[in-house]
Amino acid sequence: MKTLIYGGRVIDPADKIDSRLNVLIEDGKVAALSPEDMEADARIDASGKVVCPGFVDIHVHEDPVENGHIYADPEKAVFACMLRMGVTTVVGGNCGSCFYDPAQYLDIADRDGTYVNVAMLAGHGWFREQAGALDPYGPATEEQIAAMSAAIREALDAGCAGVSFGIRYSPGTDGRELLAAMGALRGTGKLTACHLRDDAAAVFAAMEEFLDAAEAAGVPAQVSHIGSMAGFGQMERALAMMDARRAAGQDVMCDCYPYSAFSTGLGSATYDDGWLERYGCGYDVLELCEGPYKGQRCTEEIFRSQRAALPSCRTVCHVMQPEEITRALTHPAVMLASDATLHLGQGHPRAAGTFPRLIAEYVRPGHMSLYDAIAKMTAIPAQRFGLIGKGTLRVGTDADVVIFDPEKIQDKATFADPIRPPEGIDMVLIGGAVAAREGKIVAPPRGRAVRV
Ligand SMILES: [Zn+2]
Repeated sequence: MKTLIYGGRVIDPADKIDSRLNVLIEDGKVAALSPEDMEADARIDASGKVVCPGFVDIHVHEDPVENGHIYADPEKAVFACMLRMGVTTVVGGNCGSCFYDPAQYLDIADRDGTYVNVAMLAGHGWFREQAGALDPYGPATEEQIAAMSAAIREALDAGCAGVSFGIRYSPGTDGRELLAAMGALRGTGKLTACHLRDDAAAVFAAMEEFLDAAEAAGVPAQVSHIGSMAGFGQMERALAMMDARRAAGQDVMCDCYPYSAFSTGLGSATYDDGWLERYGCGYDVLELCEGPYKGQRCTEEIFRSQRAALPSCRTVCHVMQPEEITRALTHPAVMLASDATLHLGQGHPRAAGTFPRLIAEYVRPGHMSLYDAIAKMTAIPAQRFGLIGKGTLRVGTDADVVIFDPEKIQDKATFADPIRPPEGIDMVLIGGAVAAREGKIVAPPRGRAVRV
């Protein structure tokens, strides 16, 4: 079976390609790129459209496993939202958290299929719990640290793409535990990603803690969702810290989502005493996504009662500065990633809007070129996480492709309607076959595990 996507502007930053080319797909792989016409069984007209590698989202909180299967609601699943916005490969297991054994998760993805291809990080917090360190605020014992490091090493051997930390969520993690868990990465070439211990004015010390540990362990470091860590007036200095380390030879990069509000559980340590002072805000920045106050901003009374009654309640915190997010996203060592997390279709619109939004809100108004934006959505993240054959249309790679109108592509998900599909994306192909069309999923799940 040969399919030809013809007439489109092909942008593939992995190979510095930006030309009008026809893309021939054969047996699920990219077979040829040529300005000439080529014979095919099926033809897709991409005139006036951009044709680029399927987007790669390296910071996702994956759908949970229920009764042995990955949650796969075609509207509400994170992976379904991903596919509808042009993403074809995701990396789960971020911020130290996994819903399930990450190596087994990859096996289930292969057995059942998923809406998008899935790679997994070994989430330190999950392994910490498995090792018996059940108090996130307390230190782990030497035996527990040895056990979690050994289990992480096994997960890496089974194809996990690296190790993630969520020091914010398990603040009992100390330097010796960080170094031991990162030590599992030594010699693998894989990276460590981290949701830092602290944000706002405390982000600098938190960044140093993580980057010092990564440097001591000799592993590449990824600072997760820098916008929600330093987007309150600290961005310039945080990026300068990263640049100074890069200049000194340390391998460090960041990712960022294109919104000026973050999202986390109401019960999480983010909202422990002192959060109002930290962000310099009032309770009204906090929007609840579930329960009796869904869609409402908080008062002190609502905050206190709901935090006690419904700690799992998703929240949106409208507290970052938009120009700080722009500053991060336009930095060459910052890639795009959604930090998608949904609970039964509720949560932050970034899960369904992040990738189209970069073009609609940052390219069209002139903050960055379309080429640079696509690099941040394809080649840079795929190379960063060692996802071979993803994030490029090089001949021989998997034919994961997105076709969109650069003038019309637009995120439509909002805080009130967080899973609404975007507009302006004509088609998303996974393994050479059409998986979504005009914001609708049109085929059974075609994604599989990506082992690194
Ligand atoms: Zn996080």
